[in-house]
Amino acid sequence: MKKNIETLLSHFAEERDEYKGAVVPPIFQNSLFTHPSWEHIDEAFDDRVDNLIYSRGHNPTVRIVEQKLAAITGGERALLFPSGMAAISAAVLHCLNQGDHVVTIKNIYGPANNLLNSYLPGKMGIEVTQVGGETVEEFENAIRSNTKLIYLESPSSAVFSLQDIQGVVALAKKHGIKTAIDNSWASPVFQRPLEMGIDLEVHSVSKYIGGHSDLVGGCVIGSEKDIKEIFVREFELLGAKTAPMEAWLVLRSLRTLPIRMRQHQENAMAVAEFLENHPKIALVRYPGLDNFPQKELAQKQMTGYSGLMSFQLATEDLEKIKAFFNSLKLFKIGVSWGGHESLIYAPAISYLKELKPEQFESMGISLGDMRISVGLEHKEDLIGDLGEALEVV
Ligand SMILES: *Cc1c(COP(=O)(O)O)cnc(C)c1O
Repeated sequence: MKKNIETLLSHFAEERDEYKGAVVPPIFQNSLFTHPSWEHIDEAFDDRVDNLIYSRGHNPTVRIVEQKLAAITGGERALLFPSGMAAISAAVLHCLNQGDHVVTIKNIYGPANNLLNSYLPGKMGIEVTQVGGETVEEFENAIRSNTKLIYLESPSSAVFSLQDIQGVVALAKKHGIKTAIDNSWASPVFQRPLEMGIDLEVHSVSKYIGGHSDLVGGCVIGSEKDIKEIFVREFELLGAKTAPMEAWLVLRSLRTLPIRMRQHQENAMAVAEFLENHPKIALVRYPGLDNFPQKELAQKQMTGYSGLMSFQLATEDLEKIKAFFNSLKLFKIGVSWGGHESLIYAPAISYLKELKPEQFESMGISLGDMRISVGLEHKEDLIGDLGEALEVV
């Protein structure tokens, strides 16, 4: 019988009998594995992916996490990486050769944008077209004879815009183009891109999958064929190996992923509705809200909504904006998201290093834009904290 995610996370791929019945598997903190004979190690080399030889490749603690990730996403195989960017780089490099063309969206995660738009064009002559991504036609119009990859991030973690995953997959399959998606926002609990035909699903494990703000990691999930190829090339050759201790922390985190996601959703919905109805808030961007512009698509391809959103204060007065930001007590100031703790960041802090406030409007950004990650504190306390801080605006 096919098991649900919650059950898989507790029991799947755990060979407890092999570990003296330990309910939690050990951390295999060893760099290499010894073999009883010439013949044994000789045979081990015939399958580098699945035999135990050296921990830059296969490590049992890491492998348990990979097996669980594949099982809960509907993929055949997964690979754990030491960061989300290592996972994204491996997935992208796997799909591209010198001179190939990629189509992606304008609002992808900043470092992924730098990889595609600056590093790869310079190193490998990769060509990139960025589209708004709200219609499949935009992707279709961007396709060239050398297009090898369509790279999605839905919802995008910057502006929460969605791409029609099934529509893009159908287009890509027609043209023999690979598809990859950054699914960090929705997590495997709320969105299942591999079942919609996406080739490679990537996550920043540092966000919801890790969930405790105590590790940095990433993963790539896909078919047996793709992942085995990534294993012997981008993973082993570039040396993007996860430490067993980090993998063990991810395993600990995975046990509670569904329950955490449901609570993030409940808290975030309450916070989003509070902000939406507050007179000092101009606008809230959150795919869970009824008036979210792409609500129909959101409901079609996601089964729930996580805790990252943005909103705009109804003022352009930088002093008031800073006063609001600095008076929050529970929302801690910091980058990243997806952990147990609530966080706030103002994109203007980054933009103001390069732009004047007068330039903001033409770029569709506002001084008063705030990004929050709604954590697992009690929702009434979070709303209270925001409400008090809004009094200074
Ligand atoms: C943080 C993040 C990444 C990168 O993950 P790291 O683990 O920090 O390398 C990738 N995509 C999105 C959407 C992110 O927010």
